[in-house]
Amino acid sequence: MAGAGQPFYMPLTWPIGHVSSAIMKPDDDEPRAPSATPELDMIGHVTSMIAACRSFAMAYMCIFLFYGSGDAAYPAFGRAKEYDVQWMLPIVLRNVVATWLIAGLWDWFLYFSPLAKKLHKYKLNKRYPAFSQMRHDAIATTIASICGAAVEIVLCHYWATGQLAGAIGANGAQRPLFGGDGTHKTWVSVAWMLTCTHWRVPHFYVVHRMMHPWKNRYGPDVGAFLYTWVHKQHHKSHNPTAFSGTNMHPVEAVLYYSAALIPCAFGAHPAIAVACIIDCAVGAWLGHDGFQWPGSGDYFHQLHHAHFDCNYGAMHFPIDKWFGTFADSGKMVRQIWSDHKDGGGAKANGVHEPTLVANHARATASPRRTGPATQRDGTPLRRSVRRSGRKKSGEIVVH
Ligand SMILES: [Zn+2]
Ligand SMILES: [Zn+2]
Repeated sequence: MAGAGQPFYMPLTWPIGHVSSAIMKPDDDEPRAPSATPELDMIGHVTSMIAACRSFAMAYMCIFLFYGSGDAAYPAFGRAKEYDVQWMLPIVLRNVVATWLIAGLWDWFLYFSPLAKKLHKYKLNKRYPAFSQMRHDAIATTIASICGAAVEIVLCHYWATGQLAGAIGANGAQRPLFGGDGTHKTWVSVAWMLTCTHWRVPHFYVVHRMMHPWKNRYGPDVGAFLYTWVHKQHHKSHNPTAFSGTNMHPVEAVLYYSAALIPCAFGAHPAIAVACIIDCAVGAWLGHDGFQWPGSGDYFHQLHHAHFDCNYGAMHFPIDKWFGTFADSGKMVRQIWSDHKDGGGAKANGVHEPTLVANHARATASPRRTGPATQRDGTPLRRSVRRSGRKKSGEIVVH
């Protein structure tokens, strides 16, 4: 889970609670060894629900505080019957500004602020990614946020026309978020709100797993095709930062944000769907920041970036455990795929280009390395690996 090790209420205090904790940490504080588990414990589930409340609070602001009433209300309540740039553009601009305020600010704090040096020991992979990666991911994430806006815009249109229930009642008036009937009963809306991350994670698993090699024994491997043409972009950042969270091909970004369709299928209020889009974005940005507490990095997913063929979902919903794809080390990944003809690990299946890894390692390797050499998941390299893996160029070959 993003930010494992943090007190359960901390997501509601982000970024102030995280920044003040970073300032207060004593200089001799010893970070605990990061670990991944196949499922969350009770505190983890509560922390996730608190984070979902944060997403819901932002959605509430986006729908009720940024807009007035009547003709000035949120477009889903009327104006969006016709596609018009006047109501569409503010949604796009809001997403772009929020992207830079949240992901941009957080990357600056962790990687460039006066506290960056102090925070280095909390970094999961002790190396820093190249600035060119950050620049690329910032642009890609901005485009992905525009894709998220596109999903919301289409939903607004269908809500306003009444083709999607949830925004407008039979009498033509706005349906209430709380205290209504059916799917708008208070307890139903509260349940949607608290469990947002829990119900969107299975959707993420399906979309994500589909874009990794299926390793099927017969017939074409559709996942390998989708990986090459769509999902590979996300894995260019094997040492991710917040901006890497939604560094996605536009096709993947639309699929990712389409989790918002789940509550729509049940006639939930638009605030639930918008909260889902926000939870997808903020959860990905903070979960990819690359730091353990007082950062927000998700070590479970960091291992996915390091080893590719494991941990396709998240700990909130233990699908990886059920399907046998949970791993907490590279050795475990090789064991999972040991009976496949292409061996274990994505590098062996020909889909992931080894040069991608080698080039990135070269780009991020400093001529004089400071600090311990690490694998891509941040665990120290064994001495034998260091000796055999070092090349003249200073490149570290990761085994
Ligand atoms: Zn990722
Ligand atoms: Zn992946």
